[in-house]
Amino acid sequence: MTKMSSDARVRIGLEIHCQLTALRSKLFCRCSADYRGKEPNTNVCPVCLGMPGTLPLLNRRAVEYAIMLALALNCKISKRITFYRKNYFYPDLPKNFQITQYNAYEHASVGVDGSLVLDDLNGSSKTIRIRRLQLEEDPGRLAYEGSIDTANYALVDYNRAGVALVEIVTEPDFDEPSEVRLFLNRLASILEHLGICNPALEGAVRCDANISIGEHARVEVKNINSFKDVERAVAFEITRQRSLASRGIEIRGETRHWDDARRITVQARMKEEEEDYRYFPEPDIPSIVVKEEDVEALRARMPELPYARVERFVKVYSLSSDTARILVNEKHLADLFEASTKYYDNARSIANWIVTDLKGYLERYASYDRNSKGDDGSSNSIFAKVTPRHIAELAMLVDSGKINRVTARQILQNVVASGMLPSAIVQGMDADMLSKKDELESIVNRVIEEERKAFMDALSNEKALNYLLGKVMRYSNGRADPKLALSMLKEKVADKSKGGK
Ligand SMILES: [Zn+2]
Repeated sequence: MTKMSSDARVRIGLEIHCQLTALRSKLFCRCSADYRGKEPNTNVCPVCLGMPGTLPLLNRRAVEYAIMLALALNCKISKRITFYRKNYFYPDLPKNFQITQYNAYEHASVGVDGSLVLDDLNGSSKTIRIRRLQLEEDPGRLAYEGSIDTANYALVDYNRAGVALVEIVTEPDFDEPSEVRLFLNRLASILEHLGICNPALEGAVRCDANISIGEHARVEVKNINSFKDVERAVAFEITRQRSLASRGIEIRGETRHWDDARRITVQARMKEEEEDYRYFPEPDIPSIVVKEEDVEALRARMPELPYARVERFVKVYSLSSDTARILVNEKHLADLFEASTKYYDNARSIANWIVTDLKGYLERYASYDRNSKGDDGSSNSIFAKVTPRHIAELAMLVDSGKINRVTARQILQNVVASGMLPSAIVQGMDADMLSKKDELESIVNRVIEEERKAFMDALSNEKALNYLLGKVMRYSNGRADPKLALSMLKEKVADKSKGGK
């Protein structure tokens, strides 16, 4: 890569679609907003199928939710909200147009000119401007036999058609893929705190990114299914464009798709021009006049938002702002923290437990990404077992010196498996602990035999050792003395690395 090309400024902008999953019905009809897992084309009616003669009826709560989100993102709320028809022909759109919004002729989308501050970018902070926030309907879904390139036909399912979406468009203010990820996590936390969208639901938050370097044309990347993949897709695209630029090859303004299996972007259709959509005002939905007092009433009804919550955690519980942010970034962790402090009055100890041990556990064992494709909140099953009382007891047992952190982590595994209270597990362990070498020998040997790969990994990787220890704990039904088991495993690893090579 030449010096010149790597110096060119990268600009990244996002277009994010959030379904208002807390709504009961679709945006313009009474069909259920909960379309997931239903027989194809059963969650439909003449309105969302676009039958002639039907009329849309706007879901008032959808407008309220959108205004609340716009307020949370510091947008100016438009005094008059108008819907537009965006005309295009594609099988996922039964009416051949999408009801959306468009800013022209004093008609406006719900909110404009907002901002979101990223305040923990390695010590510095940065403001991402929000260009607009609008309300629109989700199209249906197409399903292909195999892949889109090789399928002979497509199947269409209109169950999702007409579900309320908020579209958020940012200015191209991001310089780095990591900022994009941080922004999306912040946004997800705001959505969770407002209680209007559950980002853990598959497809509930979807993101397109546009990326350009220097004066080159802008490339739009669509079809990105998880927050992790947004970061990957953006990083890939920057590398691809820099490589083209460094070789003097023109970067075409185009739409590309993220191929999450191959982790590359592939060319889609050439970019449509805006006028192709022939926007015109939706004649079946009157403009909505938004009064100042209505906005203020909504503002007053809004729950505590992440920034305020972080501040409160720092002030009331004396947490570091880093710890507070990690908790608040995932609302269920923040909720778990606050509920746990009611059982044990040591907030810092509980926070520390959740942020290091519990979160570490979730990441290691549950391949945890809250916006992964197909993730319907799989960590939910863990949180059904790990209650505030469990967390409080674990922190208390460690603080009192009854157990060490290694044991506490093993107990956490046991809690997830059994739902038992840590104090009860500790009692069982005390009564019947396998604390002699010969008692543990056969279990340790069995684990090493069955987990050959992890054992070999353990020669160079501490984490693999913890994994093996977890297996020993499981095979012994939690009765193994973790200290002894760990030292035995370490011994075996040391023998292997001495004798093995
Ligand atoms: Zn319907």
